[in-house]
Amino acid sequence: MNFNYFMPTKIYFGEDVISKNKNLFKDFGKKAYVITGKHSSKENGSYNDVINSLELLKIQYIVFDEVEENPSLETIERAAEYGKKEEVDFIIGIGGGSPLDASKAIGFLINNKEFNKDNIFTAPNLKSIPVIAVPTTAGTGSEVTQYSIVTDHKEKTKRNLGQTIFPQVALVDPKYMMNMPYDITVNTAIDALSHLIEGYLNTNANVLSDMYAEKGLELFGKCLNGLITNNINYEVREKLMLSSNIAGILISQAGTSIPHGMGYSLTYFKGVPHGKANGMLLAEYMRMFKNKDKVNKVLNLINIESLDKLDEILKKLIKFDVNISENEIKDYTNAMVSNKAKLKNHPEEVQFDDIYNIYIKSLINK
Ligand code: NAP
Ligand code: FE
Repeated sequence: MNFNYFMPTKIYFGEDVISKNKNLFKDFGKKAYVITGKHSSKENGSYNDVINSLELLKIQYIVFDEVEENPSLETIERAAEYGKKEEVDFIIGIGGGSPLDASKAIGFLINNKEFNKDNIFTAPNLKSIPVIAVPTTAGTGSEVTQYSIVTDHKEKTKRNLGQTIFPQVALVDPKYMMNMPYDITVNTAIDALSHLIEGYLNTNANVLSDMYAEKGLELFGKCLNGLITNNINYEVREKLMLSSNIAGILISQAGTSIPHGMGYSLTYFKGVPHGKANGMLLAEYMRMFKNKDKVNKVLNLINIESLDKLDEILKKLIKFDVNISENEIKDYTNAMVSNKAKLKNHPEEVQFDDIYNIYIKSLINK
C-alpha cells in the first residue's frame, strides 16, 4: 500500500469559535487584511466577530469587501494591489468559497510581487502570506483545501490557480448559516455532496481519504431529510458544516473529477451556481460507472436505495432548468475532454460520447 497525506490547516470548530480563540490572530502579525463578499458576512455576524476581535487585540486592519461569486482574476489583482500598498501581514478571509478562494490568490500575489493575473498560472510553487479562513457556507470546504478556483475571462472558464495554498487556520462556526436562504443552503450542500462522491469515486482515493469520504457521506445522509423538508435547525447546520469540512479534507487529498469539470462551463456560460451545476450532473455521472461497487456504497452511506431515487431527490432539491442547445453541449464536452487534470481523477476510461451523454441525459432528456 502506498499513499501520501498532507493537510496542514489547524481547525477550530464550534459555536463562538472566533471570540474564544481570537488570541491566535496575534501570531500572524500587526496588520490584518479582512477579505469578504459584498453583504452576507455583515448580516450573519462573522464580519463583526472578526472585527471586534481585532479591535480588542489592537491589531490594525484594512477591509476589501467586494469579492463577487466565482471571483475574477481582475478583482483578485485589484485587492492584491491594495494589500501590497497597505503592507498587510496576513489575511482573514470570511465567506463562502468565493471570498476564501480569492483570499488565497490575493495572499499569493501579495507575497510574490513579480506575479500578476497574466503570468500567475505558469508560476513555480511559491508561498502566500498566511491566510485564516472563516467559512460561512457548508459547501466548498475551501477552509481546508489548497485550491483557489478563479474565473479566467481570457480562457472563458473557471480554473484552479495551480498553487498550494492551505489556510493556516480554519475557524468554523455553523451559527453563521442560521439565516441562509434555502436555495443557497441547498446549492452549497450539494457541492459538499459532490466533493464526497467525486473524492470517493476517484483514482487518487486511498485508505485515509476513503475514511473521510465515508464519514462525510454518513453525516450528509443524516441531513437529507432536513434539506428536503426545509427543516434546517442548528443541529442540521452543524452536521452540514462538518460534512462539508470533512469533504474539503477529502478533496485536498483526492481532488474532484468529472462533475466539477463539466459544471464549470455551466457556471461560466449559463450562470448556474457552482453546487447546483455539479448536482444536475451527479446522478448520470454515477450511472456511467461500469464498476458499481463504490457507487452502491455511496448510496448505502447516504441511505438512499437506488440511483433513480437519488436522481428524484436531486430534482426535488434543485430545478434542472438550464436552457441549453446540443451545440453548446458539444462545446462544453470538448472543453471537458481536454481537461486532463479532471479526467485523470476518474478511475475508468472516458470518451467524448460518455461526457456528451451525461450532459444530454441530465439537461435535455431529463
Ligand atoms: P459563494 O460564491 O462564496 O457565495 C454564494 C452566495 O452566498 C453569495 O451571494 C454570498 O453572499 C452568500 N452567502 C455566503 N455565506 C452566507 C451566509 N452564511 N448566509 C447567507 N448568504 C451567504 O458560494 P460557495 O458556494 O460557498 O462558493 C463557490 C465558489 O467556491 C466557486 O467559485 C467554486 O468554484 C469554489 N469552490 C472552491 C473549492 C475549493 O476547494 N477551494 C471547492 C469547491 C468550490 P456575499 O457575496 O454577500 O458574501
Ligand atoms: Fe466544489
